[in-house]
Amino acid sequence: MEGRRPLWSFENDPDFQPELDWIDAFVREKVQPLDYLLGSQWNIHDPEFVRLVRPLQEEVKERGLWACHLGPELGGKGYGQLKLALMNEKFGMSRFGPIVFGCQAPDSGNAEILAHYGTEEQKRTYLYPLLDNQIVSCFSMTEPQGGADPLLFTAHAEPDGEEWVINGEKWFASEADHAAFFILMVVTDPEAENPHRRMSMFIVPRNLPGIENIRNYGFYGERDDSHAHLRFTDVRVPGENMLGGRGEAFVVAQVRLGGGRMHHAMRTLAQATRAFEMMCERVVSRETKGERLAEKQLVQDKIAESWVELRQFRLLILETAWLADQGLDWKAIRKNVSAVKFAMPKLLHDISARALHLHGSLGLTHDMPFAEWVINSFHVGLADGPSEVHKVVVAREVLRDVEPADAMFPSYHRDIQVSRARALYGNPEAR
Ligand SMILES: Cc1cc2nc3c(=O)[nH]c(=O)nc-3n(C[C@H](O)[C@H](O)[C@H](O)COP(=O)(O)OP(=O)(O)OC[C@H]3O[C@@H](n4cnc5c(N)ncnc54)[C@H](O)[C@@H]3O)c2cc1C
Repeated sequence: MEGRRPLWSFENDPDFQPELDWIDAFVREKVQPLDYLLGSQWNIHDPEFVRLVRPLQEEVKERGLWACHLGPELGGKGYGQLKLALMNEKFGMSRFGPIVFGCQAPDSGNAEILAHYGTEEQKRTYLYPLLDNQIVSCFSMTEPQGGADPLLFTAHAEPDGEEWVINGEKWFASEADHAAFFILMVVTDPEAENPHRRMSMFIVPRNLPGIENIRNYGFYGERDDSHAHLRFTDVRVPGENMLGGRGEAFVVAQVRLGGGRMHHAMRTLAQATRAFEMMCERVVSRETKGERLAEKQLVQDKIAESWVELRQFRLLILETAWLADQGLDWKAIRKNVSAVKFAMPKLLHDISARALHLHGSLGLTHDMPFAEWVINSFHVGLADGPSEVHKVVVAREVLRDVEPADAMFPSYHRDIQVSRARALYGNPEAR
């Protein structure tokens, strides 16, 4: 289907390019320095966060670039995915880029769910403060015994009068301690015939009795240990806290995935691009055996490979964003979306690792970001589903309409093709 569509121009709208240029300069000059001064991006009540981040958020709002992923009805610009992708490429140049522009995960995805399924009252209590970054949130579905396979989840909710009572454990619930509420996926219909109709999604305020953070987990490069192992014991929520219908958790979860994956991919591309830029500065600056590193062919190989990988990955994301803008829903283009998802960790890993290596011992140190970015490549390869699962989707989609050969030999066997050509054009004159 994509193949029959016309090619798109690589030029930006003349009125959009100045916005991108403004974002680029703003992020490089004012936002990137925050990475060296502040702790977690989600610690929004930290006085230093308030002092440094709030004024920058105001500048973004004045420029009309706040929370642009939202539709106009929620105060966004209604930009299409292609523009959002290009903007996120800029936001990704800093750890604080997304929160300064009002589109950080998991809040952006959670906001989309609330906008779609929340009642007016829930929007007032959760959505609008979330959009304004007055609160932050947590999305919690993974459990200790299984993440990549949601059918292994056992945390459950049972109805009791007008309420639901939640019991069970959740795992790697990022930013649970900073969150004002969770969007929580739990089993409500264990006997449902269709296993994908067994779970429902709930809004769960963080401060309810019965919610315990057993402990937080952290990993190299993170400022705080922020991924919670949670226990829910007889936690009661009112019936209206169910988002979407009973048994519809998978449908609800999809609302947050498509656009979010593209934006995340562009931010990851930005991180890999920064690694590449650093690699380039290093190889033209450092000399060994009488010449710059840049003159060594094995070094040139790394530069050339990295450049091509960045361009290829960027085009794949932009093509996917463009397809979404043609009105195809995320499900229709899931081959592209999953391809982006599994290409992303490899790109970040390979380019960050080359940059680390080319910086020699300095590259390994805490003074350089490369080890952190290599670790981050494993993060992006796991969160939101491991690469293997996404490769299966791509292969399945690619092979879906491929016809098997109807004879012993493949349809492209030379003899078969020659017969076909002769049937069409006759025998060529002997030469
Ligand atoms: C930094 C970070 C933040 C996260 N934040 C959140 C969050 O906020 N909320 C939340 O709910 N979850 C979160 N997660 C959890 C994440 O979604 C899970 O880690 C992910 O779904 C994988 O689940 P798992 O860790 O249990 O790995 P497992 O399911 O145990 O898989 C382990 C490995 O097995 C292999 N594997 C798995 N399935 C297949 C398959 N079908 N075919 C072949 N090989 C396979 C892969 O190599 C995979 O990496 C986060 C994870 C990370 C790393």
